[in-house]
Amino acid sequence: MSAIGTAGINLDLSEEQRSIQETVRDFVDARIVPVAHENDIAHRLDMGVIEGMAELGLLGAPIPEEYAGAGLDFVTEALICEEIERGEAAFRTLISVHVGLNSLSLLKHGSEEQKQRWLVPQATGAKLGCFGLTEPGAGSDVAAMAATAVRRGDVYVLNGQKTWISYASVADHALVFAKTDPAAGHRGVTAFMVELKDTPGVRTADIEHKLGVWAGSTGDLFFDGAEVPVENRIGEEGDGFRIAMYSLDQGRFTVAAGAVGVIRACLEASVRYARERETFGKPIGRYQFVQGMIADMVVMYEQARLLVWSAGHAKNKARETGARTTRETSMAKMVATEYAFKAADLAVQVHGAYGYSAEYPVERYLRNARAPRLYEGTTEIHRMMLAEDALGFRSLDGRK
Ligand SMILES: Cc1cc2nc3c(=O)[nH]c(=O)nc-3n(C[C@H](O)[C@H](O)[C@H](O)COP(=O)(O)OP(=O)(O)OC[C@H]3O[C@@H](n4cnc5c(N)ncnc54)[C@H](O)[C@@H]3O)c2cc1C
Repeated sequence: MSAIGTAGINLDLSEEQRSIQETVRDFVDARIVPVAHENDIAHRLDMGVIEGMAELGLLGAPIPEEYAGAGLDFVTEALICEEIERGEAAFRTLISVHVGLNSLSLLKHGSEEQKQRWLVPQATGAKLGCFGLTEPGAGSDVAAMAATAVRRGDVYVLNGQKTWISYASVADHALVFAKTDPAAGHRGVTAFMVELKDTPGVRTADIEHKLGVWAGSTGDLFFDGAEVPVENRIGEEGDGFRIAMYSLDQGRFTVAAGAVGVIRACLEASVRYARERETFGKPIGRYQFVQGMIADMVVMYEQARLLVWSAGHAKNKARETGARTTRETSMAKMVATEYAFKAADLAVQVHGAYGYSAEYPVERYLRNARAPRLYEGTTEIHRMMLAEDALGFRSLDGRK
């Protein structure tokens, strides 16, 4: 579970990486796994776990130490996400929106003053961040967004709605996108950091009755004449689309890494069950059809993890070169999330009817593995991006 090698690439983990992996694994086993089922059924977001994650530095893992982060590399970030989502998807989702989509974007695009004001408290976990891009009429087609931001003196007046926003009703800050020039298409989008708790005209609401991630938080953000100070604008007017795409490159990586943890959880649960459950006088693990399902999970785990680690190495290098890593991240996200859902379905199959019951965790893995195929680019959008890159119709990493 700790090292794999491919031709020309050394994927051995360092001592520090192993030690962090072990620490997070122990945390997940002690704090998340024992209550995951109970919290899921009760639709309870366990804020104590989030506080524990903050104490371990997980809410600022790849943020430099000068901004109160842990200064870790992206492969380590992947190890953290794998361990956390092995326990519960809701907490990896927090890493995705808080660290990936919000903090890393602020690190790249925020001014020094903005970093001190929002990034530092986010990196310690004193404040939580979320990401408001999707609207009722604009998901894959980001530029179709209808939210507007009109400048009036020292403030922008925001109107509109963001929907399906993870941690909307919990977060303190949201990186929100709205049109400052509606006629300019994607070039008219601007990014703002909105303080959700203290801004009149901002309202949040939870989305009830979801298919999965019951132990998490998903909601809407409503802006009704909300006045956001000009100093909360991230980048210049019209930079928003580019900033959102950069954010997605960071968030998708954590989604992919978490999906690797789902595959591992499915594999481990299935191996345990297949060794214990007997039919016709033998453990079901002795039957080739069951072995085939286990073998598929083994290979999906290794394949997905290789793509994630490879993207992690590309991201580490990109820190020095400033290169984009959209292609690597997109591949890892598409493959890992598809595999995670497939592995969860296989795990239910291995468990028979018990897999359909909340008595075993695999039904939760199946429900929770559905959303990552939709968010941060649906599988179809990733297929389109990768194909268009291969065909030369667009260049994902700016290499052509
Ligand atoms: C649990 C959950 C959490 C989320 N968290 C967040 C969050 O924190 N912040 C945020 O901003 N958003 C979030 N989202 C929203 C998510 O990013 C969007 O749902 C996603 O981008 C898809 O948009 P859509 O739902 O509008 O689907 P649509 O864009 O309407 O797509 C519908 C279908 O059409 C397909 N399709 C669309 N366009 C094309 C095309 N050009 N080619 C081929 N197929 C196409 C899609 O693949 C999909 O199958 C979350 C969603 C979920 C379910």
